[in-house]
Amino acid sequence: MTASISDVRAMVSQAFPQSMHDLTQLVRIPSVSWSSFDPSQVVKSAEQVAELARGTNLFDTVHILRAMKSDSDELGQPAVVARRQAAQGKPTILLYAHHDVQPPGDLAVWVSEPFEPIEKDGRLFGRGAADDKAGIMAHISALRLLPELVENVDLGIVLFVEGEEEFGSPSFENFLKDHHALLEADVIVVADSGNWDLETPALTTTLRGNATFKLTVRTLDHALHSGMFGGAVPDAFMAFAKLTSSFYSETGSVQVEGLTRSIAQIPEYEDDQMRLESGVLDAVSLIGDGHVLERLWSQPSITVTGMDIPDVANASNTLLPSVSARISVRVAPGQSASDAFEAVRHHILNNVPYGAQVDFEDINLGESFSTDTSGWAAQSISHSLTTAWGKDVVEMGVGGSIPFISSFVSAFPTAQVLVTGVEDPDSRAHSPNESLHIESFERAIVADLLFLAECNSREL
Ligand SMILES: [Zn+2]
Repeated sequence: MTASISDVRAMVSQAFPQSMHDLTQLVRIPSVSWSSFDPSQVVKSAEQVAELARGTNLFDTVHILRAMKSDSDELGQPAVVARRQAAQGKPTILLYAHHDVQPPGDLAVWVSEPFEPIEKDGRLFGRGAADDKAGIMAHISALRLLPELVENVDLGIVLFVEGEEEFGSPSFENFLKDHHALLEADVIVVADSGNWDLETPALTTTLRGNATFKLTVRTLDHALHSGMFGGAVPDAFMAFAKLTSSFYSETGSVQVEGLTRSIAQIPEYEDDQMRLESGVLDAVSLIGDGHVLERLWSQPSITVTGMDIPDVANASNTLLPSVSARISVRVAPGQSASDAFEAVRHHILNNVPYGAQVDFEDINLGESFSTDTSGWAAQSISHSLTTAWGKDVVEMGVGGSIPFISSFVSAFPTAQVLVTGVEDPDSRAHSPNESLHIESFERAIVADLLFLAECNSREL
């Protein structure tokens, strides 16, 4: 490659109106992959992505494929797989993104229509604008420009755009098995994470795992009059509250024996920034101990994310016989999700008060991730990100989980897995008013293109 970085920026910028146009067309499709939503929209977005892949003229084959779900005899949502065979001795790079989206959530909170994208203050608002349709368009836009930038496209390319990531990728493991040869690659680039801030690129090097489950606590075989029995007979909510409070120390950090912590490299970051980014109310303190980023990246956390109890309007004066709750455990990198679940289960059985009965159901486990950044591909993508943004890349942890990444790692154990993305701290992925920072999107395309050009000139 002989082009300078300013040439590359100019190429991307010239093609950028088309990138934005194609992105908004994708955002207009409400491709929610949850089973309660219209599956034909996910089919429609798969078809549109396949069309975009064909339009690059780079691929030998472009398929829309499905696999059986692991836990039922149903087919999963459609994914797009496009493949170009590598020239002799050249690496194959798999570019991953997903075309499904989260449900829009509370429409009253959205300031614009979730599936009618609008540009405002340098951002594109819409469900999926950032997570992850901009990831797809970063890959597609870079691929379109690659033949202009390099003399011969010699590297192998796999474009893999999944359709059920937001629903927990139920057919992903089978998909990797069924289409192993089609997906085989030396490097896997996952564009589904974020950057450090609006000026600083990031490579995501660790992710927490998760263990979620439904917990039911029972103290009575039927509801009782709270006046006649309250004070002598334990109600299920009281037992539940005492039990869940035993998860936390006085400062709010998790104190469950057997849940481990790992070590993180922490870039400069102040508590005040966390206050600002999270919107925590003025008088409310942060929780936990250690550096605030260690609490997110390398320590476990436990959250009650939903409860089945009578709502306020229907509250009668009774002692509740049972309550159920969804519990979400975030697992530090390095600990397996099943070990973490066992530690929490053990803690619950040992700490449940008054001999209350407990039940565990709907257990869902996702593994953590940590990458070795010394490999050539990690070095090369760090270099591309630094060049594209004009600022050193930050290696960051992420408190969230992308469980399918560990499936990639076990299906392709020799491949280097690199996690990048287009999001920024204010993207509000999964929340109302999700948005994409448009300039970050453009830089992501530049970085993607530089990386592909570098891989193209590399011999394995
Ligand atoms: Zn995503």
